[in-house]
Amino acid sequence: MKYVGAHVSAAGVVGNAPLNAAAIGARAFALFTRNQRQWAAKPLTEEEIATFRNNCREKGFSPGQILAHDGYLINLGHPEAEALAKSRAAFLAEMRRCEALGITLLNFHPGSHLRLSSEEECLARIAESIRIALAGTEGVIAVIENTAGQGSNLGFRFEQIAWIIERVDDRNRVGVCLDTAHAFAAGYDLRTPEAFDRTLAAFDRIVGFRYLRGVHLNDSKAEFGSHVDRHATIGKGNLGLEPFRLIMNDARFDGIPLILETPESERWAEEIRLLYALIEKTSQ
Ligand SMILES: [Zn+2]
Ligand SMILES: [Zn+2]
Repeated sequence: MKYVGAHVSAAGVVGNAPLNAAAIGARAFALFTRNQRQWAAKPLTEEEIATFRNNCREKGFSPGQILAHDGYLINLGHPEAEALAKSRAAFLAEMRRCEALGITLLNFHPGSHLRLSSEEECLARIAESIRIALAGTEGVIAVIENTAGQGSNLGFRFEQIAWIIERVDDRNRVGVCLDTAHAFAAGYDLRTPEAFDRTLAAFDRIVGFRYLRGVHLNDSKAEFGSHVDRHATIGKGNLGLEPFRLIMNDARFDGIPLILETPESERWAEEIRLLYALIEKTSQ
């Protein structure tokens, strides 16, 4: 079963996210549990938590279909002590919000060295940040997203993600979210069945499919290998429809949230229908 959805709005009212997802025919959704552009977040009230949980139940979303995304200001690999501590505190708070809401998957970009430290030092800080967050919470999985490698963002090579995972002791609580546009911009081709197989074989060999907890389904405005992070509507970018047809017919992507982060939110319902229509009868 494929759980396709989108990163829907939860602006101000977290309980609206499952309603917004259901309204576009989504079987999964992603959300920010707080304003993603600010450090401060109002604590969730009992009522907000109950409403979110009830709405998820009513619309048929179980935790395996929900992928929270952390805020944009957090950098778990920050080279400066004070800023790193602030990021770690904010990330732990996000893990706790997920815990309260019954969300088990929190997706984040690993972090950036800002050209102030080496790659390996940055990866080590990221791994320690994850260990701290896991030690302070229960049941929530830290889901590392592969990046386009824009600026000094790490996580654009599968080896970097594997390096981080190796340094987390509780392997059941660390996972990976594969973003198709980021992979493509980072130099992992997906455009033909052969290229798709090669990229996924590399992912399996270096990271391991057992860590795959979600996918971001994005076409790419950016060129192959450009390290530029610019998403496009499905079928309208440089990836084209083929990678998405391959994903929709590949059992390795069953049972996890497959989330659109494409720019035209008014077309998400249409994109979701299109993706389901790509499923070939024989593969079901
Ligand atoms: Zn993404
Ligand atoms: Zn992106």
